[in-house]
Amino acid sequence: MKYEVEHPEIRENVAKLCADFPGEYWRKCDREQAYPTEFVQALTEAGFLGVLIPEEYGGSGLPISAACAILEEVHRNGCNAAACHAQMYTMGTVLRHGSEEQKQRYLPGIADGSLRLQAFGVTEPTSGTDTTALRTTARLEGDQYRVNGQKIWTSRAEHSDLMLLLCRTTPRDQVAKKTDGLSVMLVDMREVRGKSLTIRPIRTMMNHATTEVFFDDMPVPKDSLIGEEGKGFRYILSGMNAERILISAECVGDAKWFIEKAAAYAGERSVFNRPIGQNQGIQFPIAQAYSQMRSSELMLREAIRLYEMGENPGEEANLAKMQCADASWAAAEACVQTHGGFGFAEEYDIERKFREARLYQVAPISTNLILSYVAEHVLGLPRSY
Ligand SMILES: Cc1cc2nc3c(=O)[nH]c(=O)nc-3n(C[C@H](O)[C@H](O)[C@H](O)COP(=O)(O)OP(=O)(O)OC[C@H]3O[C@@H](n4cnc5c(N)ncnc54)[C@H](O)[C@@H]3O)c2cc1C
Repeated sequence: MKYEVEHPEIRENVAKLCADFPGEYWRKCDREQAYPTEFVQALTEAGFLGVLIPEEYGGSGLPISAACAILEEVHRNGCNAAACHAQMYTMGTVLRHGSEEQKQRYLPGIADGSLRLQAFGVTEPTSGTDTTALRTTARLEGDQYRVNGQKIWTSRAEHSDLMLLLCRTTPRDQVAKKTDGLSVMLVDMREVRGKSLTIRPIRTMMNHATTEVFFDDMPVPKDSLIGEEGKGFRYILSGMNAERILISAECVGDAKWFIEKAAAYAGERSVFNRPIGQNQGIQFPIAQAYSQMRSSELMLREAIRLYEMGENPGEEANLAKMQCADASWAAAEACVQTHGGFGFAEEYDIERKFREARLYQVAPISTNLILSYVAEHVLGLPRSY
């Protein structure tokens, strides 16, 4: 198979690291819904999670294509970066909109792993995809904000020191546009956890360390505000393209893992005295998934290219996210089908990866919302919501 070889050294080193975390490791974590602490630690120590942080703050200052190479390889080698990928995209908000003082304070610790920025609090139970309808509020009292409200699906909150939080600082009926009056703050959860911040894990169909969090008059120092008050929605949006591009790379990695597994098994499993891969009914879904994977990978490369030129590739990042997620899902389906009953057996890791791959049809953005974006912003059709 012909694969993209950008950043070959990084890819090789990631693959070597992943070899220390075989299927048994992930199966055990999955069974216990345990956080893969050792894996995240190994990635951190190798410097992989700090690649996007500029060198002056202790990172390696590499472009997003390097981060994509890392995430893709993690997934291609049967591992899962969901435990730690948020650091790569949330940190961009601090980098682009944080003050010099905030960057000095946080980025070196994030780069060396002593400070974990893995939690991203945007989604709420009542507002869902309609982000500007969120209800969590922050009220300024002297030199600190008081935060009240609730978030849901705040992944990794139990395994993070910091949370990038989006909340409303001016009521919706007092702003000209509903996107105004939202603010982003970098909350140091270590000081408030178990007091004014309550974190409750949510068990899900895959091991994702996701939670719901409750803020009960939670104090947040005023200097935790990122950028200007009331402009937070724009700051979060500016990080969305990076998030979509990085998640796309994970999906490409998953697709490659499923395709390689399926093709190998189809060649070796013999039924009716011939390899099952000799039947076109088995070949075609794998070939179809391969075709989808290759074209989604090209769209991803285009999104990366534009992003690295300093453009804002909303169309390409969204299309890449949708196509890469579809390719990984098609590959997951073909892989299970090729394996017959064995696709359902825990020890083959396929059912676990299958469950994990399903998420990307919904999060971090669902397919419908991408189609809405394309219809409205690319094709010029009327806004539907
Ligand atoms: C495991 C997991 C981890 C997550 N991690 C995080 C995290 O760390 N931080 C965070 O902030 N969020 C996180 N999320 C939340 C995730 O981003 C949301 O679940 C996702 O954006 C969809 O929002 P929702 O679940 O509220 O669905 P809803 O908004 O309730 O939508 C439900 C369905 O309706 C569709 N829909 C809604 N509106 C429209 C429309 N106008 N047109 C067509 N279809 C529509 C959606 O596409 C979806 O299929 C996570 C979610 C999961 C499941």
